[in-house]
Amino acid sequence: MKIHEYQAKQILKEYGVAVPEGIVCSTSAEAKAAFEKLGSPVSVVKAQIHAGGRGKGGGVKLVKSGAEAAEAATAIMSKNLITHQTGPEGQPVKTLLVEKGSNIADELYIGIAMDRAVSRPVMMASSEGGMDIEEVAAKTPEKILKEAIDPEVGLRSYQALRLAKGIGIPAPLHRKAIKFLQALAKAFLAKDCSLAEINPLVVTKEGDLFALDAKMNFDSNALFRHPEIVEMRDLGEEDPAEVEASDAGLSYINLDGNIGCLVNGAGLAMATMDIIKHAGGEPANFLDVGGGATSDQVAHAFRIILRDDKVKGILVNIFGGILRCTTLAEGICKAVKEVHLNVPLVVRLEGTQVDEGRKILEQSGLPITTATDMGDAAAKIVAAVS
Ligand code: ADP
Ligand code: MG
Repeated sequence: MKIHEYQAKQILKEYGVAVPEGIVCSTSAEAKAAFEKLGSPVSVVKAQIHAGGRGKGGGVKLVKSGAEAAEAATAIMSKNLITHQTGPEGQPVKTLLVEKGSNIADELYIGIAMDRAVSRPVMMASSEGGMDIEEVAAKTPEKILKEAIDPEVGLRSYQALRLAKGIGIPAPLHRKAIKFLQALAKAFLAKDCSLAEINPLVVTKEGDLFALDAKMNFDSNALFRHPEIVEMRDLGEEDPAEVEASDAGLSYINLDGNIGCLVNGAGLAMATMDIIKHAGGEPANFLDVGGGATSDQVAHAFRIILRDDKVKGILVNIFGGILRCTTLAEGICKAVKEVHLNVPLVVRLEGTQVDEGRKILEQSGLPITTATDMGDAAAKIVAAVS
């Protein structure tokens, strides 16, 4: 789960990470009042959307008066903000963060992510802040320093010092840097984050360190421990079909292709996407109806898939383990009738009572093509949509 910059900064502040003073607004009048309340000669008006790259997209504006703050707020909120992470339609901006401007001497990068190779969170630090870290990682990987974090003890002070020195934080600021990095690691662990990123961490001309930007993602499997984080969820930032699917207990992710996939089990869903690609097609989505899918869930999944105009055909690939193939076949027939299916449908069933299940599909009189195995299913659906 993702949250906004201003929310991440609230959390980080609680853990002792230095963030600039700021006020959350939703109108230009509020932005003007916020500028005046902050009382800084320079402030920044920042669009709050879940995507990054806001600076380059025109979603971060420096302002020097209340009138300028109001003007910037109006400009940012008047149209969708397009960044390299939003897609071409962009994202509407409903919330702004007006924040004291920092007198930047240096922009650095700090991030924490899970490193599966060492089975621990790893703090990454780089002197190349403010820019695309993926590009730094690809072109000059030696400029990213790493320290693995022991989840029991957090980031040790010598590790924090090594990173601070390594990315060129001046010696008089080392004490502040250690406190900053340790506080960030503590927040990451305490809130079950999957990612925490400060890009940029700035050194100011006055000798302070601030998290100028903040991104936090959370492990959704741990959200039950954090009702305060769940409350921060902004459904307006999420794909409505994905929200509907998660409410129905389905894992659905929208993709770019034209073959809708309905599968039980995440591993089988991944394999199905692979085999569609192998057969020369492109999946329109990842959809896992879960191990014990009911016919209602299958019908719901069909409705979600069919709402996507890109979908020109559907491949159902279900393994009947706990649920018998006969029950599944009946569920599919019921769903097909309910949703008035208007695109080709290929179904591959395997498992308990598979022959009886296939017979139900074949004798249903519905436009369903059955397949014997995954390769056959992929070839049939790719042929049907091309
Ligand atoms: P994004 O990563 O979405 O582009 P950032 O919050 O990183 O958004 O802001 C982009 C740039 O705007 C920063 O790299 C920094 O140069 C500038 N900026 C952001 N916040 C402030 C601030 N409080 N004071 C001064 N400059 C800022
Ligand atoms: Mg940034």
